Amino acid sequence: MKKYKPAVVLWTLLFTASALSRVFSAEPKNTPPVIRVLIEEDQKLVRLEAGGPYRIELLPSLKTVQKGKKLPATPVSPTPQGIRLGTEEWAAQGIRIEPEEDRTLVLDQTRFRGSLQIMKDKNQSLYAVNRLDIESYLYGVLQHEVAHWWPMEALMAQAIAARTYALYQSQVSRGAEFDVKSTTHSQVYGGSNVERYRAKKAVDRTHGLVLTYQGKLFPAYFHATCAGQTAGAKELWKIDVPPLAGGVRCGYCRISPHFFWEAKVPLAEIEEKLNVNGRGLGQLLSIEEITQTPSSRVGSLRLTGTSGEAVVAAKDFRIWVGGDRMRSTNFTVKINDDVAEFHGKGWGHGVGLCQWGTLGQAMLGRRHEEILKFYYPGSEIKDYGS
Ligand SMILES: [Zn+2]
Repeated sequence: MKKYKPAVVLWTLLFTASALSRVFSAEPKNTPPVIRVLIEEDQKLVRLEAGGPYRIELLPSLKTVQKGKKLPATPVSPTPQGIRLGTEEWAAQGIRIEPEEDRTLVLDQTRFRGSLQIMKDKNQSLYAVNRLDIESYLYGVLQHEVAHWWPMEALMAQAIAARTYALYQSQVSRGAEFDVKSTTHSQVYGGSNVERYRAKKAVDRTHGLVLTYQGKLFPAYFHATCAGQTAGAKELWKIDVPPLAGGVRCGYCRISPHFFWEAKVPLAEIEEKLNVNGRGLGQLLSIEEITQTPSSRVGSLRLTGTSGEAVVAAKDFRIWVGGDRMRSTNFTVKINDDVAEFHGKGWGHGVGLCQWGTLGQAMLGRRHEEILKFYYPGSEIKDYGS
């Protein structure tokens, strides 16, 4: 009988075992795509910190110029020729810091997963971009967008909507320096400082799931409270995709603390905002609603002042006055002395998923799939790897 050497037997067994495990093991989860989040801009100085091994690469060459075991909080600033980190200066557009292990980095006291890029803009100020996988990004989004104690089905619906929105943005922003901002301009992201156990669980339980229409991603917008009726995307933007087209009646957000709002804005302040936005009308005399959108929000306003009148879109007027103050375009307005008094309903643009309505539906026992189909009619849930 032929004798085999023990080492050969061992290698054969190992090889067979690894081949078999490749055949029979469940497919690993799809590698999540990377997303680039703008976390700071217009800065003259930021502080960068690494709690473990790291390396610094120059941008755009990606040449490694420094490796270290730990980086204490170190200032980064722009210089005429390039960029400075502590006492080192490089002629480059920016730097990227990569943690060598799965460690978080710290920028201006906020912790981040993934890597950080600090770059110079055309005004010689710094902006910072966090590059990380989309699942880790969502860990830092969910807590800001909804409360972590909400029912799991509500958190899961929010996780899928937020993942879809972010991935859509990264598709349309190719060639740009970042995909999303960390503010309400996109969706609010607080790095890993804000992660919570239940919010992370909702992200993990929906790993890779996104909303599609006819196999394509769409910008799955969401907002805090629709106050009875969501808005069609066309009311605000040039977006015409069926799941966002019509708006739906939502009787589930009555529990929202943002259902009603009021704002008293001095006319002088509005006059100033109009001046800044090139629509100065002198002293403001009246504000009238002249058109309504299909979802019964204010479409446009006629503003009359001592030196003329102007018709402005309510969505622009809201942004000029401040989106947190004028919480929606669903309002009535009257002028009392020198003050415009707004009485309104809901919070946000009103398109897509209503977060407080999602909570209301989850409290009635609805599952996340049902809730998402309700707010995005005709959409399908798919895995981004498929
Ligand atoms: Zn609602």
